[in-house]
Amino acid sequence: MHRTLVSLAIAVAVLASGASASAAALATGVELLPGRFIAGEQPDGNTLVFDGADGLVVFDTGRHVAHTRQIVDYARSRGLPIVAIFNSHWHLDHVGGNALLRKMFPAARVHASGAIEDAMRGFLAGYRAQIEQVLATPDGDVAQKAALRDELALIDAGPALYPDERIVKGGMTRIAGRRVQVGLETRAVTAGDVWLFDPATHVLAAGDLVTLPAPLFDTACPARWKASLAHLDQIGFATLVPGHGAPMTRAQFATYRRAFDRLLSCADSKASKDACIDGWLHDADTLIPTGDVKLARGLLGYYLEGILRDASKTTPLCL
Ligand SMILES: [Zn+2]
Repeated sequence: MHRTLVSLAIAVAVLASGASASAAALATGVELLPGRFIAGEQPDGNTLVFDGADGLVVFDTGRHVAHTRQIVDYARSRGLPIVAIFNSHWHLDHVGGNALLRKMFPAARVHASGAIEDAMRGFLAGYRAQIEQVLATPDGDVAQKAALRDELALIDAGPALYPDERIVKGGMTRIAGRRVQVGLETRAVTAGDVWLFDPATHVLAAGDLVTLPAPLFDTACPARWKASLAHLDQIGFATLVPGHGAPMTRAQFATYRRAFDRLLSCADSKASKDACIDGWLHDADTLIPTGDVKLARGLLGYYLEGILRDASKTTPLCL
């Protein structure tokens, strides 16, 4: 399992599309700062910024400093403080900016599941050890090693990434004066996945419960993830913002969900790996930019062999 993220780092370095996008108002009082893939680096998750009465509410903080700086710059351009941060889950491309945002906005409160603390002792500790092994080898790409050193620094930020407010159940709440619905899915993409629904604009921030160009199964319980997508379908959203990829309509989410379900069925069947990948690319065709097809193939090839068809990986994550 621990080799997964290092392998993924390499996969992304080779396969990244280099696609990027700039900030855009998604709805009144809701700004999208898209995450992006940069060749040779791991991805950043999408960030959403909601206007509150008392300041800004940030959903996911990115991994690279360049992404997090965009959040800081956006807040400065508005002349408003960041008063609350939500993390959808503990993956570094969603929590990596917490430390910088806390430094810039010391009053900001971080809301997230407490799953990061177990991850820091488990998955991330293993990932850290793997990185150190790679860094200890004399060979290797200089830029890739620099990126891995950045990963170490992120992990070593430790408690600076942790929540102040641990989300243990979902419900309606008021954050920075804005009424929102917080949801918690357990053992889906990770042990604790948080989503945020904004009733005023019908925007749903889904985190990595929805990702393009493919679902990312590194730490997932696939069966429970499938059930979580059914939960999202019950929410009255008009626009769903995935953890990676472009915002979706309800119809596009239905397409995604069907493709996801069929991918899991294919993985459980005797069909070849390539048949399952072709199935995903066919079913999710309208959602995947042409330039990302190669990336989707690479990711799913890895996940089908390394995770979806290896019960020793998925079973412990479903317990
Ligand atoms: Zn992510």
